[in-house]
Amino acid sequence: MDTPLDEATRSAERGPRDAATPAAPTGELVWARRGTAYFARKLNELTDAELDRPSLLPGWSRRHVIAHVGYNARALSRLMRWARTGVETPMYPSPEHRDAEIRRGATLPAHALRSLFAHTAAHLDAEWRDLPDTRWDAEVRTAQGRLVPVRETAWMRAREVWVHAVDLDSGADMRDFPSDLLGETLADVLRAWRRRGERVDLTVAVAGREPIVLGTGGPAVSGTLPDMVRWLTGRGARGLTSSTGVLPVLPRWF
Ligand code: ZN
Repeated sequence: MDTPLDEATRSAERGPRDAATPAAPTGELVWARRGTAYFARKLNELTDAELDRPSLLPGWSRRHVIAHVGYNARALSRLMRWARTGVETPMYPSPEHRDAEIRRGATLPAHALRSLFAHTAAHLDAEWRDLPDTRWDAEVRTAQGRLVPVRETAWMRAREVWVHAVDLDSGADMRDFPSDLLGETLADVLRAWRRRGERVDLTVAVAGREPIVLGTGGPAVSGTLPDMVRWLTGRGARGLTSSTGVLPVLPRWF
């Protein structure tokens, strides 16, 4: 909850924008907001009983996915608060705490689970709206322990809501995604592998794009951008062809 003092502090910090101030990550925020609407639409199409069914993620029902997406918004709001106040607040106290919270959240009554998603998303949106322009480059730490400027929260959220909408397994499809978002998701997977030093020998041949050669090149895997991203993010292979006739086993995304 905000106190009047918080509000006053924020107004005082906001000030006029000039060329030197790091402004909000506008494009990523649009992706995040559109993705939130997309996830909400897919969730609304499911009956309460259908929430009990499995998601695309091993061991997780749709309920787990919804709880996770809700708590993710809350965790990112903590990073926004950290950036705004300078008081360090991690996304989650520990990985165990995060997992236990998801398990517990998944048992909530359906209406509570739906409002968890809606309220946490709205709260995060308000945090984005209210962050003074001067704070967007403030450093915060991700759940993986990386220090990043808080502007990254927009992208972190965008990929969560879009990809987990697919995980609901209720008709969401990467073919619905904006193509610039798909391109960024593909780049994100490759960045994650590089950061972890994963050994991948593969040529990513997306129709209409320059092939991307990883490691020694390995088999050339071709397909459309949505099908490629679906596979690279670990959401199943569909519509892809491999020069060796076999798709290699990929490391996880994150
Ligand atoms: Zn997630």
